[in-house]
Amino acid sequence: MVSLCFIVDQKRRIRSHRPVASLCSRCGGGARVADMQTETRCCFIPFYFKYWKAIICTFCGVILKSYGGNK
Ligand SMILES: [Zn+2]
Repeated sequence: MVSLCFIVDQKRRIRSHRPVASLCSRCGGGARVADMQTETRCCFIPFYFKYWKAIICTFCGVILKSYGGNK
């Protein structure tokens, strides 16, 4: 199948994070402000990177708040 080479997907990564004085609204764990990276890949080759910030919970992984427009 040649069409296999038109797969576009996105991967989200946490580049770095540090504690913030806030609690997760879902599990009550400690929230962190994180530098996020979204890479868009075509055929598993990254061709677009986007950097943004978010408040995340490191315990359950939920994104409590995001900055920089994660579309
Ligand atoms: Zn949580």
